[in-house]
Amino acid sequence: MSVVERLSPSKINMFRQCPQHFAFRYIERLEEPDDPRLVRGTLVHEVCERLFDLPPHERTRPVAVALLHRLWERMVDAEPALAALFADADAAGEWIVSAEALVATWFRLEAPSTVAVQRRELFVETTTEAAVLSGIIDRLDRLDDGTWAITDYKTGPAPGARWELQAFFQLRFYALVVARSLGLNVTLLRLVHLARNGEVLELPFEADSVDNVDRQVVQLAAAMQRASESGRWHANVGRQCDWCGFRDRCPAWSDARSEP
Ligand code: SF4
Repeated sequence: MSVVERLSPSKINMFRQCPQHFAFRYIERLEEPDDPRLVRGTLVHEVCERLFDLPPHERTRPVAVALLHRLWERMVDAEPALAALFADADAAGEWIVSAEALVATWFRLEAPSTVAVQRRELFVETTTEAAVLSGIIDRLDRLDDGTWAITDYKTGPAPGARWELQAFFQLRFYALVVARSLGLNVTLLRLVHLARNGEVLELPFEADSVDNVDRQVVQLAAAMQRASESGRWHANVGRQCDWCGFRDRCPAWSDARSEP
């Protein structure tokens, strides 16, 4: 299967941030090592999803924190190697406190007891000229006027202006897939940033933007195809390297590795 036959926002964003990272992950098919920050993101996302299993009056912060601890115990039971991510009990304790802080920030930004959530962790897929586009949407909310909002939780810090549009690309991609596959009119995109003081970023979305996103995806798919055929993957050094699990094999960091 061609590398561009199936595309998701995470795959596209990885290519845009660093083609070499993309090549490690999707051409060489290397697994990224577990990273406590990414595991924390997975855990907090699950809290934000599962809390809506409860009736509105039970969606309180103490209940969410208790849920966080229960889900973490279940994750470690299912994958004991996760416990070895931490040097010692103090490091593990600090990590869980930092996860609690993300949940606390969520409650400062939103009131889960009043949110009109329709769908959570919703898998969506559609076929376009470029590829099969798919992804999992954190939350689809019905707005008062009958249109829809797509919400995505971010556990990293809010992006600077340069990264903001890139962060919204994921949600614009989902709006395209939702419009084409479910026929829903998405009018609002929301990024709920839970790190530090937290921030909710909102961007209106208009129906005629769907075709623009489609064209953008076609161009990106063509760029991926060209890189795949040439075998040339640019190593784009930047702050994304802090989150990259392949730094120890990245050609751009070979000089740093060979320094005494
Ligand atoms: S370390 Fe940086 S430059 Fe190298 S693959 Fe990862 S993100 Fe790209």
